[in-house]
Amino acid sequence: MRTIDLRSDTVTLPTPDMLEFMMHVPVGDDGRAKGCKGEDPTAAEAEAYVAELFGKEDALYVPSGTMGNMVCVATHCRRGEKAVTALNMHMYKAEKGIFNPDLCGVEAVCLPHERGAYRLDALEQRLKEGDIKLVCLENSYNFEGGCVIPRDKMEGILELCARYGAATHLDGARIFNAACALGISVKELTAGVDSVQFCVSKGLSAPIGSFVAGSRAFIEGARETRKMLGGQLRQVGILAGGGLYAVKHLSQRVAHDNARARRLAEGIQDARGISIEMDTVQTNIVKVDLHGDLRGRAWLKALEECEQVRAHYITDDSIRLVTYRGITDEDIDEAILRIRRFCETH
Ligand SMILES: *Cc1c(COP(=O)(O)O)cnc(C)c1O
Repeated sequence: MRTIDLRSDTVTLPTPDMLEFMMHVPVGDDGRAKGCKGEDPTAAEAEAYVAELFGKEDALYVPSGTMGNMVCVATHCRRGEKAVTALNMHMYKAEKGIFNPDLCGVEAVCLPHERGAYRLDALEQRLKEGDIKLVCLENSYNFEGGCVIPRDKMEGILELCARYGAATHLDGARIFNAACALGISVKELTAGVDSVQFCVSKGLSAPIGSFVAGSRAFIEGARETRKMLGGQLRQVGILAGGGLYAVKHLSQRVAHDNARARRLAEGIQDARGISIEMDTVQTNIVKVDLHGDLRGRAWLKALEECEQVRAHYITDDSIRLVTYRGITDEDIDEAILRIRRFCETH
């Protein structure tokens, strides 16, 4: 029985064409400045392409999404300044460094939200106190089953932030999945946010990296922050070129991943001992709630041992299934069959 790995889209491998492209790009020392860009021509080209695509003035390649978020937040905020986030936002729950008092030391103000969208009354009440420097957003929202914040909800939040003078940062690790689910462009989806981070190393299939985008002045500051964090690389065009290839050629195919996640969820939702909030299944993540005796890591271990299906832990009561370019329609059929069989016997 072959293994079906639904743990994460981070396991996506680069395509042969992408690797071929990466091998032949022109490169230079990106740590040496040429105007406000580095000397690596491929990194500069990739950053210009991303900036244009997102409707921002400039962009910057960074080695990871975690560093992208940290570069952005640490460019917006100084130590001790306050940023709005949420208890289960990836930046707060999984990355931690931004809010670690011994690292960036930005003070977290955790607010309630409904599937990633802050409640406007709670947000306004907090912004009124006048000490919020930054409001962080995440779209799609990882720990809420990959659900998307629709554009009108984004606009309501951005309008409040503008009124009270708070900057905005969007963690768009899977922004193409979100834009695709909403049927709008990433430019439309990110309009009005002061900075955005997105990963090329997840569903977009590049091996390494993320881009951040924002105003020219912001990206100039972000270059400085990236350098302090050790994220300024030398012949980075080899990597950034992979990112450029991914954005150009592989960002639209995430529609298949979204559709396959939906089909997977529909196929297993009524299986014994589990449930799925179907209206959260909008992108390539399926959050499955567990109700049987077997929970969390024990459930995952048993599923893998019995059926060779791998999934990812969220909490003791919920696990995650993720689709990506390596998962085909046949894999989905097979995964539905195996997960249903497992649920019947456990
Ligand atoms: C994966 C992820 C990140 C971090 O990206 P890395 O490249 O793994 O550091 C940030 N935010 C969200 C929502 C993610 O899913």
